[in-house]
Amino acid sequence: MIAKVEPLLTTRALRGPFDYALPERLADVGVGSVLVVPFGRQRLVGVVVEVAERSDLPPERLAQPLEALEAGATPELVGLGLWVAREYCSTPARGLELVLPPGVGRAGRGAAARTELLARLTPAGRAALEGGTRLGSVQRAAIAALAGADPAGGGELTAAELRSAGADPAALRRLEARGLVELRERQRERRPAIVDVGARSSRPPLNAAQSAALAEITSAIDRSEHAALLLHGVTGSGKTEVYLAAAEAALSRGRGAIVLVPEIALAPQTVSRFASRFGDRVALLHSRLSAGERRDEWHRLRSGEAMVCVGPRSAVFAPVRDPGLIVVDEEHDPSYKQEGDPRYDAREVAVRRAREAGAVLVCGSATPRPESWHRLPRVELPERADGIGLPEVDVLDMRMTSGESGPLHRQTLQALSEIRALGGKAIVMLNRRGWSPSVSCRSCGRWWGCPECDVSLVAHKASGRLRCHHCGHSEALPEACPDCGSVTLARHGAGTERVAELIAEAVAPLPVFRLDSDSAAAAGAHLDILRRFETAAGGVLVGTQMVGKGHDFPDVLLSVVLDADATLRFPDFRSEERTFSLVAQLAGRSGRGRRGGRVLVQTLAPEAPAIRHAAAHDTAGFLATELERRRTLAYPPFSHLLRLELSATDAGRAQAVAELARGRLAEAVPSGVRILGPAPRFRLRGKHRRQLLLKAPERDGAVSAVRGVVDELAAARSLRGISLSVDVDPQ
Ligand code: ADP
Ligand code: ZN
Ligand code: ZN
Repeated sequence: MIAKVEPLLTTRALRGPFDYALPERLADVGVGSVLVVPFGRQRLVGVVVEVAERSDLPPERLAQPLEALEAGATPELVGLGLWVAREYCSTPARGLELVLPPGVGRAGRGAAARTELLARLTPAGRAALEGGTRLGSVQRAAIAALAGADPAGGGELTAAELRSAGADPAALRRLEARGLVELRERQRERRPAIVDVGARSSRPPLNAAQSAALAEITSAIDRSEHAALLLHGVTGSGKTEVYLAAAEAALSRGRGAIVLVPEIALAPQTVSRFASRFGDRVALLHSRLSAGERRDEWHRLRSGEAMVCVGPRSAVFAPVRDPGLIVVDEEHDPSYKQEGDPRYDAREVAVRRAREAGAVLVCGSATPRPESWHRLPRVELPERADGIGLPEVDVLDMRMTSGESGPLHRQTLQALSEIRALGGKAIVMLNRRGWSPSVSCRSCGRWWGCPECDVSLVAHKASGRLRCHHCGHSEALPEACPDCGSVTLARHGAGTERVAELIAEAVAPLPVFRLDSDSAAAAGAHLDILRRFETAAGGVLVGTQMVGKGHDFPDVLLSVVLDADATLRFPDFRSEERTFSLVAQLAGRSGRGRRGGRVLVQTLAPEAPAIRHAAAHDTAGFLATELERRRTLAYPPFSHLLRLELSATDAGRAQAVAELARGRLAEAVPSGVRILGPAPRFRLRGKHRRQLLLKAPERDGAVSAVRGVVDELAAARSLRGISLSVDVDPQ
C-alpha cells in the first residue's frame, strides 16, 4: 500500500503529498496517521492524507516511512484541516496541525502518556519477609510496606507511595529481578481541575421557550441531517440550560457534542456546569492546560471515553466521535477568529463540520452578529429564567462635561456613592488598560510614541513605565522632557488603572478589584479576582471588557460603561456591531438580583444607533439598522471580504509590492470582485504595512484567486523579506 504524506513544513514552496510505500509492520497506518518519513537527507513528521493502491512513482523510488507515531487524527478531521487550509489560503501543513493530537507537529511529537509504576509482593516476596532471606534495609522496607498494602487495592502500591517508604524505582527493579515483587505500568490520566465561580447550578425544569428550542434541536438531531439555528436570548434567559439538555439528547442517541465558548478563562461557569452534568464524559481542551493534560483529554475524546468537548475556538477540531451537536456560545465573540495563520473563523469551521457530520449547529447570543441574524433561523428565549426584567439604562452625555470633571460623570459619582452607602456591588467597564493612553510635554508638545509602531505609548503608573500595547516595547516613565527639559508632562485620558484609583477614592472603604490583562497576567489570577469580587460583601469590579463576559453575579446593583463609543472611533465596518455588543452585554447582565439594578453608559456619541439601541435593550432594532447599512455599503453578509496585508521594513518596497499584488489580483479575480487599496496601515513592529481589501459577491472564486496570487508571490525570490498575510472574513 502507498501512503500519501503531507509533510509538516511551514514553507509555502514545498507542497505534498509525497508517496511512501507502507511495509508490513505499518499495515494499520491510515488516513490521519502521523509518520516520521525520510525526506532527502532529513527526517520529517508528516500526516497521511490518503492511502492508495498504487503510486505514479516506480517502486524503486519509493521510500518507506521510518515509524508511525502513537496516534493521529481521524479521516474526518484530516478533511476538515485540509479544508481550512484551502479556505483560508494557508498551507496543508498548517491546516493539518490544527487537527493533530496536542503538541504533535513540526515542533515535535507531543507529550507522552504518563504512566506510573505499581508493585505487588509475589509469594516468594512474602516468604522472604517471614523467612531468613537476606535483604538490604531499603529492600526490607519496601517489602514490609507492600506486605501491609490494602488487599482491596490488589495489594499494590505505587512507586510514589513506596518512595515515601524509602524505596526508589531502582530498588524495586532489583526486587523484581529477584522474583520478590511484580511490577506493572499503568497509564495515568491527568484531568484538569475545574473551578467553580458564580451562581451554582441545579437542573431546573425547562420553561416553555426553552422546551420549544430543545424540541427544534432534538428533532433535527433525530433527522440526522445538518441544521443550524440561532438561539437568541439575553444573559440569564436559560441558553446554557438548553445547551446542556441538547447535549444530553445527543448523548442519549449515541452521538457526541462540541461546545465552543469564547475564552475558557472567561467561561468558568459554563465549564463547571458541563462538568457537573456530564462528569467524566466531558473533556476540556484549552491552552491553559498543561501539555500532558491536554494530551490526555484529547485521547479521552479520540477513544470515545469522553463524548462531550468544551473548549475555545480550537475545540472545533476536537476528535469528538460522531458529533450530533455543535454549540457556539456567545457567537458574537471576536475570539472565535484565530489571529495567526491560518486565520480561521471557528464559527465557519463549525458550519462545515456540522454539515459534514450531519450535526445540528446551535449559535447562541444575546447580541448576535448581523451575519447570523440574517442567515440563520431564530429561536427566541424572550425572558430571563428568573423572570426579572431588564434594568433601566441611562445614557450620560460626556460632551456636556468639561475636561476638569475627569473621566467620571457627576451622575456616575453619585451612583457610586449610593453603592458605598449601601455597601453593595458595582461593575465598571472601560475598554482601555493602563493609567493613561498617551503622554505629551506641555511646553514643547513632544509626544511619546513607540519607536517600532506608529502608536502612542501608554502610561502605566504602578510599574512606572510607558508601554506599547502592540509590540511589548517599554521604557521608563519620563520625569522630564528630553527635548526641552520641562517637567510638566501631560497624561491624556484614563485607562482602567487610573479609573480604579478614582473609584477607590469614591467608594472607600469598599474594596475595588481591577480586572484587565495587566492585573490578570499571572495564571489563575483572572478567576482569583472574580472569586474575590464574588465573595466580598460589597465592592466594585473595574476592568476592560473582561468584566462583561461569562460570569454572572446576581447581587450587582450598578453597572457602568465608560467611553462607550471608544470602539466606534475605529475605522472598521464592525465598529457598530462591537460597540453595540459591548454595551448591550453589560447592560443585559445587570440587575439580575431581587433588588434590581441600574446601568449608566457614558459616551460622547449618545445618538449613535449602536448606543441608543443598546440602551433600549433593542437587539432587533439595532440589527435591522445595521443590516441596512451593510446592504448599502455591500459589507458582509451581503459580500465576502478578503484582506491581504503586505509588510516590509522599507515603506517604498511595501508599497511597490502591494501595487504589484493588486495588478496580479485584478487579472485573477472573477468579475464583480472589487479591489480596494493599497491602503497604508499603521507601522507595526518596525514593519511598514499595506493592505488590499477585496469585496466579493461570491466567496469561492475570490478565495482561489487570492490563494494563487499569494502562492505565486511567496515563491518569487525577488520578494524575499516581504511578509504576506491573508485574512478571509476579517474581523
Ligand atoms: P444563559 O446561558 O442564557 O445566560 P443560563 O442557562 O445560565 O442562561 O440560566 C441563567 C440562570 O437561570 C441559571 O442560574 C440557571 O440555572 C437558571 N435557569 C435556567 N433555566 C431555568 C428554568 N427553566 N427554571 C429556573 N431556572 C432556570
Ligand atoms: Zn518638551
Ligand atoms: Zn510598539
